[in-house]
Formats: sequence, C-alpha cells, structure tokens
Amino acid sequence: MTKDYDLIVIGNSRAGAYAALAATQLKARVALIELENLQSNWLGQEALYNQALMQVGRVLQQVRKAPKFGIDSARNNSIPDTAELEKQLVKQSGEVGRDEPWQVEETEKEDIRTYLSPFESTAHFPTVEIPDAMEWAEMVVSTCYEATSPAILASFGVDIISGNGEFCRLPHLGFVVNNRRLQARAYLIATGSCPEIPDIDGLETIRYCTPRDIWKYVDTSQHKVIGANLTDIVPQETDKVTKPSPQGKLENIEETIPFQLQKNWLVVGSTPNAIELAQTLARLDCQVTLAVSEALIFPQEDAEASRLVQAQLEAEGIRVLTQSPVTQIKWIEGKKWVQVGNRAIETDEILLATGQTPNIESLNLAGVGVEFSRKGLKLNPKLQTTNPRIYACGDVIGGYQFEHIAEYEASIAIKNALFFPRWTVDYQGIPWAIFTDPTLARVGLTEAQARRRYGKNVWVVRQYFKTLDKAQILGETTGFCKLVLRRNGTILGGLIVGANADELIGAIALLIRHKIKVGSLAKIPQASPTMSEIIYKTAQEWQRQRLESNKMLQNLLESFFNWRRKW
Ligand SMILES: Cc1cc2nc3c(=O)[nH]c(=O)nc-3n(C[C@H](O)[C@H](O)[C@H](O)COP(=O)(O)OP(=O)(O)OC[C@H]3O[C@@H](n4cnc5c(N)ncnc54)[C@H](O)[C@@H]3O)c2cc1C
Repeated sequence: MTKDYDLIVIGNSRAGAYAALAATQLKARVALIELENLQSNWLGQEALYNQALMQVGRVLQQVRKAPKFGIDSARNNSIPDTAELEKQLVKQSGEVGRDEPWQVEETEKEDIRTYLSPFESTAHFPTVEIPDAMEWAEMVVSTCYEATSPAILASFGVDIISGNGEFCRLPHLGFVVNNRRLQARAYLIATGSCPEIPDIDGLETIRYCTPRDIWKYVDTSQHKVIGANLTDIVPQETDKVTKPSPQGKLENIEETIPFQLQKNWLVVGSTPNAIELAQTLARLDCQVTLAVSEALIFPQEDAEASRLVQAQLEAEGIRVLTQSPVTQIKWIEGKKWVQVGNRAIETDEILLATGQTPNIESLNLAGVGVEFSRKGLKLNPKLQTTNPRIYACGDVIGGYQFEHIAEYEASIAIKNALFFPRWTVDYQGIPWAIFTDPTLARVGLTEAQARRRYGKNVWVVRQYFKTLDKAQILGETTGFCKLVLRRNGTILGGLIVGANADELIGAIALLIRHKIKVGSLAKIPQASPTMSEIIYKTAQEWQRQRLESNKMLQNLLESFFNWRRKW
C-alpha cells in the first residue's frame, strides 16, 4: 500500500526539526506535526530563553566584581559625578554672574539635590532594566529560532501540519490530525516533556510556576535591579496576593495575577533547572530559598562538585536547605507558609522544578502497542518503541534531558527509520553541562560510578583552577578538573567545575569517544595562559602520581643517576 510519507515527525522541537530537515536532505518525504499556534510562539524555546536571562545575571555579577580589578565603572563613566553635575546644573540654571554654587539660593539647592538624589544612591551600582533584559532574551530566542522556523522547514520541503493528532491502528498504522489520516513508513515521536508537579499537601490552594512558564508570568514591568541589593531604592510592589486562590495551574486562572520579582522565592527541586533558576533569581535581587530532598543539590553528580556549587550559591545569598522535602503548604493570616523539612518558612512565590514527565497523553500510544510508563517510553537501543515502526527521541524517552542529546538521538532514529534499523545509541563520550556559576560539566562516569563498576582499578586525578595563570588573571580561581581513569590510563570520566567548564569538557569527551588514553593528553601542551591548561595539567598530575606510586621505577632512576654522577 502506498504511503503518504517516509517519515512523520511528531513535535516541532529542535530535535524534531533537525530530524525532519535531515530526512528531507536525504530525499525522504517528511511531515512534521506541530501543535497549533506554535509557529510564532518563542515559548517553545524555554531553554534558550532561560540561558539568555542567565547571561544577564552573569554579566551583572561580573560588573559587581569590577572593583576587584580596580574598576569603578559606575562612578567614573556611566553615572555622572554628582558634585560635578551639581555645578553644571547651577550654571545651566541661568544664574549668570553667579560663578560659585554657594551663591545659589537655598531653595534652588534643595531642588537640585532632589533632582540628583537618584544618581547619588545608585552612583556605585550597575542597574538592570528587567523589561529590557527580557526584550533582549526574546530577541536572542527569535533569532536562534529562525533557523528552524516552520517557514524555513517548509522551504526545504518539509510538510508542516498544525494540529493535535493521535495514532490510529486500523486499517493500517497511521496518524490522524485535523481529520486527515496520514500514513508513513515510520514515525518519530519528539513531543518532549512537561513539568512534573510533586504531590504536596495544599498545593492546589496556591499558584506556582515551573521552569517552563516562570518568565511568561513574572511581572517585570515595574522593576529595576540595582546591583548591590539596595532593596530600599527598588520600587516595592504592594502584595497583590492576599487571599488563597484555589486555581492551581496558572493556565486555569481567568484573571492571572503576575508573579512578582524581587520578592521571596522558594525554589523546589534538585534538577539543573532548579539550581540555575535559583541563582538567576538571586542575581536579579530576589530573596531565594532552595529546598532539595536529597543531601546534595546535585544528587546524581560528584559530591565534591555539588558542594562547591552549593557553597557559591550560599555565598551569593541563597538559603540552601538540603534533606528538606516540601510536604505542606498553608495560608496563615493571608501569608503562604511552606513546610520544608522540619521548618516552616514564609514565602511569596514558589517555583516547582522537581522533574519532567513525558508528553504522551494525547497520542493514543496504548492503541498502537507502544509501552510506556510515567517516566517515559520503553525503547530498545535503536530507539524503537515496542511498535517497531514508531521511534522516539528527546525528553519523551525519559532519559537524559538535554537538547544536544535529543538531537543526537534524532540522528540515530532517522537513520534507523529511513533505512535498516541497525544503528544504536552510545551515550558514552557525550558531555553535558549545568549552567550555574561555577559551571559543572561532565562526561562519562563519575568517580562513584566508576568505583562501583571497576572496584579498585580506578585512579582519580584532579587539578585546581587556582594553579592556572589564566584563572588568576581572570579572577576565576574557583573550581577544579577531575579525571577518572583506569590504571592503564583509559579515561572513564571527566568532570570540570569552574569558569568555561562547558567549553572545556569537549576535549575530554573527544578522548573518551576515541578511546585515547590520558598519556596522549599529557603530551600536548596548551597555549599559555589559557583555561584549557587545566586539562593538560590534570593529565600531567596523572603522570606524576604514576611515577610516585611506582617504587621500582623510582629506585631504578635513583640508582641510574647515582651511577651516572660517579661515572
Ligand atoms: C527551562 C528549561 C531550561 C533548559 N535548559 C537547557 C539547557 O541549558 N541545555 C540543555 O541541553 N537542555 C536544557 N533544557 C532541556 C531541553 O530543553 C530539553 O531536553 C530538550 O528541549 C528536549 O527536546 P525535545 O525534542 O525532547 O522536546 P521539547 O524541546 O520539549 O519540544 C517538544 C515539542 O513537541 C511539541 N508537542 C508536545 N506534544 C505534542 C503533540 N501531541 N503533538 C505535536 N507536538 C507536540 C511541544 O509543543 C514542543 O514544541 C531545558 C529545559 C527547560 C524546560
């Protein structure tokens, strides 16, 4: 029976768009199903939007650190010297013949002081106009989104179909959308995930936001962030939320009350999103409490790295509560009280970022023999679901929740879907990063995972950023690089915490992917001073430790030099 398409991709995510484009380039006939009204909506791109706003927080932090470099940029450049400005204003005020400011009448001086007072109070501090920052973030998103926009995809020959569809089984496997039954040789599900809402007693009585919608609902129109936590000069909003609202999900609120920035925020969860957003909110002058159920803020990651990031968050004023599950929310005298571990804390806003759950509900997967759970789809390493003609990639699988991994999976799935299913996924050697400051980037196994798998045959070497000239120059001395190795030098895993970790980790990933041993790394000196020296120095540390632990070789060398000196 003739098929309409070679491949139908469901979900216009980056990975979905990538798969559709790649398949079209291979001359396949492809349809891409996207939810209605998404074409012009950048809110499908939360990751990028978040990244752009995180960058605002990062730049603000850099400017706050400027005095460390002897730079007092605000006073010397952008903000006028108030004494000088006072003189100029006096002159401009038309007091011809009165050269000195003290000749000005007291009342006039008072007027000038009133005019200058905002400059006085902010003279030393950078400011962020939040609406402008958000406008910038939107511009970044729309520029990046352009490359995979429906118009571009259509121009490459992808059929874009808008609508909420579902699989059907009879008479043949197909996908029904807008009352059209489409048939393809293979299907790729790339519908992503949505926030998982934890079971908290009383949650239904309050409004909350998630990483997907926080910036959509935050009211930033009034706000200006002053770089030194001077809350007294930040315009204070009166609290508009004084009574419990039973609405639960924001989408259901008819008259949405915007969330307020620069209030108390409780961020719940130990996901990368939770930690990144907690830091960004704090940098935008919110009072932030981070509550995680586990002992570490990144329970899956290296304990040393997790504690280092936690220390930085605390240094920036975030209250971090570990081993503190959120169990109950109550309204008491018009205020929101949350039971976090064994303490009750009052908060204004709540961000829930405890995890994601796959977007599969409306697809009629059970009807076409696709097995799934609340965590994701059941797949084989070829990314086939339990219906071999239906493939999946990205968050919907329930595995790694990163954009580049979704795209990697899409690349494997389309080859299998279009040709013979013989390619399998191999996640070894794919790095990822958590974009906090310091950034945490990892590839391969953690030390704990390696020890579980290889027992004593594991060697760990590390080097600290403070040993690098470049780190000293940049003032970015926090962090370290750790290599997890087998005794023969095979690299099992790499971890970098610190500035540029996200960029540096790629070098270790390449070595792991191509099974290159650490000794080769120690033979390639890096340009100096650079941050990439951290990897080279860590490899050298391995050489040093190996020599130190080889007593026989040490004795041999000592004897050799003793002999040669006498010779
Ligand atoms: C706030 C936030 C920040 C993040 N930051 C990062 C980061 O910095 N780096 C990183 O690597 N990852 C980040 N992630 C994770 C990353 O966004 C996801 O892992 C990645 O987008 C997965 O892509 P996907 O293709 O699975 O799904 P998504 O990107 O979620 O896209 C799924 C698409 O399918 C559509 N869809 C859903 N249901 C249907 C349906 N029934 N029919 C048709 N279409 C449907 C959705 O509308 C959406 O367009 C972040 C995630 C969030 C929420």
